[in-house]
Amino acid sequence: MSTHHPTDATLAAYAAGTLPEGLAMVVATHLHFCPDCRRMDRVMEATGGNLLSDLAPAAMAPDALTRVLARTAEAEPPERPAPILQSGLPPPLARCEFGRWWPVAPGLRWRPMKVSGRAWAGLLVVAPGRSMPKHGHDGLELACVLRGSFVDASGRYGAGDIAEPEGDHDIPPRVDSDDPCVCVIATEGVRMRGLLGSIQRMLGR
Ligand SMILES: [Zn+2]
Repeated sequence: MSTHHPTDATLAAYAAGTLPEGLAMVVATHLHFCPDCRRMDRVMEATGGNLLSDLAPAAMAPDALTRVLARTAEAEPPERPAPILQSGLPPPLARCEFGRWWPVAPGLRWRPMKVSGRAWAGLLVVAPGRSMPKHGHDGLELACVLRGSFVDASGRYGAGDIAEPEGDHDIPPRVDSDDPCVCVIATEGVRMRGLLGSIQRMLGR
């Protein structure tokens, strides 16, 4: 069961189909792991994602998700854990096209995902004990853990958890699992520092 979910505003934008493809793929990956957000997504789609997307920041109470889920829970069939495909990727990502792996720093590998729209996305593998690269945000960034786990100032993130950081990472997320942490990450705008920043500029993203 996931403990970190997308915000109501992000889920509403996903349901309305207004998230750029890369970000939508990260949300779709979380939905694969999270029956609560799958239910919420269906409710939002049924009630008009566009309307909710427009109203979400002002109109939704903090407990909106809890209240809607309480109303829909009884109608839900029992959920079974969804499968991870043989390639090691959950179904939403198994259909995506990827580039090659890039060894971008010690203990860090990046594999870009081919997506359209203004966001860019990919898989990030970080070795145990290593930190994610320091970076700042110019827009929405979403990361969903596929395997392993990391910790940052807001808590611990394991498989299926989604991170939606606000502002810059003063303390970069650090992998605390015994195995490498694999995440799918998408961002509208990110300012990498150091080596990854050089690669980012070299690749023109
Ligand atoms: Zn969720």
